[in-house]
Amino acid sequence: MAYKLLNGKEISGQIKTEISEKVKKNIAEGGKRPHLAAILVGNDGASETYVAHKVKACEQAGFKSGLFRFDNKVSEKELFDKINEINNNDDIDGLIVQLPLPEHISEEKVIQFINPKKDVDGFHPVNAGRMTLGLPAYISATPQGILELIKRNGIETSGKHCVVIGRSNIVGRPLSILLSQKNETGNATVTLCHSRTKNLKEISRHADILIAAIGKEGFVSKDMVKEGAVVIDVGIHRVKSDKTKSGWKLKGDVKFDEVAPKCSYITPVPGGVGPMTIVSLLKNTLLAAEKKIYG
Ligand code: NAP
Repeated sequence: MAYKLLNGKEISGQIKTEISEKVKKNIAEGGKRPHLAAILVGNDGASETYVAHKVKACEQAGFKSGLFRFDNKVSEKELFDKINEINNNDDIDGLIVQLPLPEHISEEKVIQFINPKKDVDGFHPVNAGRMTLGLPAYISATPQGILELIKRNGIETSGKHCVVIGRSNIVGRPLSILLSQKNETGNATVTLCHSRTKNLKEISRHADILIAAIGKEGFVSKDMVKEGAVVIDVGIHRVKSDKTKSGWKLKGDVKFDEVAPKCSYITPVPGGVGPMTIVSLLKNTLLAAEKKIYG
């Protein structure tokens, strides 16, 4: 089957242009330049890269951004003091705390300490709850980016069987809820699978839209995919390669080479879901600056 690539790099570029045009227009009309603050704890290579991409994307879209760095030994109190300061700074519209955090710091407590009005990652229980009920909320960036990628490629979700593999609070679970909402990007029949799912292959083979958010490189093989399915690969894995200058390359949760020929659409890794995640964060920050969610 001739498959089409769901080109997140290209679509995110279009969205970034739309966002920067909106920012220019808002400012010309006396509105506010969006301002995103990011907190990074420690020196984890992947986290450094993600935050650097987010900050760069902010600059490209005409946002203000600030990066607050702490070393691995930072106390919860120090971190909470900084979050409190940002929560009370009227110039800052959105705050993200890059995860994971060191073990001595409770991610749950940190997330709950962020003002929901500035929680542009959409991880706070207030935003997760409002999203679940279909109320205005900051929708977490990866699920939002996936829905946008589906929508902008004209892929219908209504009445389709969507199988999501992975039930994390940042990807699989919110995505499963969003796909089942009674709205334009929902109306799907959703099956949410995880490590205790029995007969996973039987279930995934019935998916019209299969979303892999497992965190295991090359987990999805061709025998798990229906002919003509849409396959969305959320996984990101750095694997060694002697074919690149850097000595490594990015791979996903799906065995792309063998799965792609069975698909109608498939996301590449890199260049699929990743760039869509970053522009969704920008979208949320723009909404925060415009006070569109909470007034
Ligand atoms: P996570 O928190 O580790 O969750 C993984 C999920 O996969 C869990 O629900 C787990 O089930 C399930 N799982 C693990 N092994 C399984 C198996 N053998 N069969 C069925 N289900 C299995 O991961 P995450 O944060 O959602 O991230 C998933 C992947 O996406 C990672 O590679 C991550 O790097 C990537 N990611 C990419 C982006 C992006 O922008 N592209 C954003 C976020 C994450 P249990 O719940 O039962 O343990």
